[in-house]
Amino acid sequence: RAKSLGSNQYQFYAPEMDYRGREILRMDTELRYAIENDELCLYYQPQVDAKTRQLMGVEALIRWRSPARGLVSPAEFVPLLESSGMILQVGHWVIEKACEQYNRFREAGFPRIRVSANVSAVQFRDSGFLEQVTACVQAAQIPPDMLELEITENIVMQDPERVSNILFELNKLGVRMAIDDFGTGYSSLAYLKRFPLHTLKIDRSFICDVTESVSDATIVEASISLAHKLGLDVVAEGVETDAQCQFLSNIDCNYIQGFWFSKPMPEDEIISFLGKTF
Ligand code: C2E
Ligand code: MG
Ligand code: MG
Ligand code: MG
Repeated sequence: RAKSLGSNQYQFYAPEMDYRGREILRMDTELRYAIENDELCLYYQPQVDAKTRQLMGVEALIRWRSPARGLVSPAEFVPLLESSGMILQVGHWVIEKACEQYNRFREAGFPRIRVSANVSAVQFRDSGFLEQVTACVQAAQIPPDMLELEITENIVMQDPERVSNILFELNKLGVRMAIDDFGTGYSSLAYLKRFPLHTLKIDRSFICDVTESVSDATIVEASISLAHKLGLDVVAEGVETDAQCQFLSNIDCNYIQGFWFSKPMPEDEIISFLGKTF
């Protein structure tokens, strides 16, 4: 105990450390424990074909089932996993689980349901990343193009030369690549054209007012048309109303993901959505 060392000694903790600081430390310790005790799990959210309304894919979204905290959302703990480096191990596990989930769909008779997994910038830049993805795809023996990896625009824009190499290697392996949260980061259209990408996911912030705001509608329409000209599929994120759905379908958005169809759900529940028309 730092305290018992006496008043002329340095203390190991600052008593004035704010509540937030202490909370982060505590959560960091809990997370290490959570990983070892299998408290992390994946939820899956449907991606629905805008025209046929069939389930075409799912996005894997991490959750922490904490006995003390309840179900914790990734916004609260993914940044901590990133700053401590634990995201490398967890990110590997996410891709492994996503591949296994595809196999569950295949075994249930639905071999065309694609599984998407989010990749953190820290994970993407790690020198072992490509090997990690290759190992996951090979171990699960899945068709590589049934796995889609989501990265954000900011990943692409930092060190584009190196990112380009990784993307071309992933492309050789055959996995699909998506740009997540499109429109919220910095990106250059030149890179969208130059890099081997497959899907553009339009961020929720452009979708929420798309039926009321002319400027949001214009941005979404232009993004879809650009994506299609570059040969990319488009997923609209955060679709919550039928009107948004109709609008997006009319302007040829390929896939729709959002609470209107379904919230992310645990593994045993997503199975019951297979073959369903929404
Ligand atoms: P994201 O990849 O953009 O995921 C979409 C988020 O939007 C999810 O939040 C999802 O629950 C939420 N969402 C979907 N439809 C709707 C809707 O209609 N309305 C609203 N209001 N929200 C909707 P979630 O699951 O809390 O994840 C937040 C972010 O955490 C993700 O954003 C992603 O950046 C990150 N994340 C999640 N899982 C992982 C993971 O396994 N690894 C990494 N590195 N990041 C992850
Ligand atoms: Mg995502
Ligand atoms: Mg997103
Ligand atoms: Mg997001």
